[in-house]
Amino acid sequence: MTVKTYEDDNIFAKIIAGDLPCHKVYEDDKTLAFMDIMPQAKGHVLIIPKQKAVELSQLEPEYASAVFMTAKKVMAAQRQVFERDGIMQMQLNGAEAGQTVFHYHVHLIPSNFHELGKHATTQADMAELAEQAKQLREAIEAAQ
Ligand code: AMP
Repeated sequence: MTVKTYEDDNIFAKIIAGDLPCHKVYEDDKTLAFMDIMPQAKGHVLIIPKQKAVELSQLEPEYASAVFMTAKKVMAAQRQVFERDGIMQMQLNGAEAGQTVFHYHVHLIPSNFHELGKHATTQADMAELAEQAKQLREAIEAAQ
């Protein structure tokens, strides 16, 4: 099996470069976290490394570590803001698995697996996403 070649013009590369907007939740030198615009539940966040990796097999250890450090911050904030104990962690490798954006990302979804909405289907209200991102940013800042 061959892994797809990384394409510099994928949506998440453009978001990292600042060429496309996002509802930012957290950023540091190695990672960026932002609201998923087609959430599968309220509060769905994506965490991406600032490394050109299509999927897990290409992720360098220092970026893998950084992604999960950021994910832990985001998860704690989601629990506080959305008052959900259950936070699903999802990550798809390859189109066959359902991956639609070919820049590695971890999904953190405050939900019960059996209640999960459809993947990448319905666009959220942008004002609601902006407000959720603000609440998550404030919770992360307060915890630091
Ligand atoms: P995957 O199918 O695992 O590659 O997930 C890609 C995710 O990116 C889906 O959940 C989409 O809803 C989400 N998505 C696509 N475009 C954007 C965007 N411009 N900003 C935020 N999330 C996006």
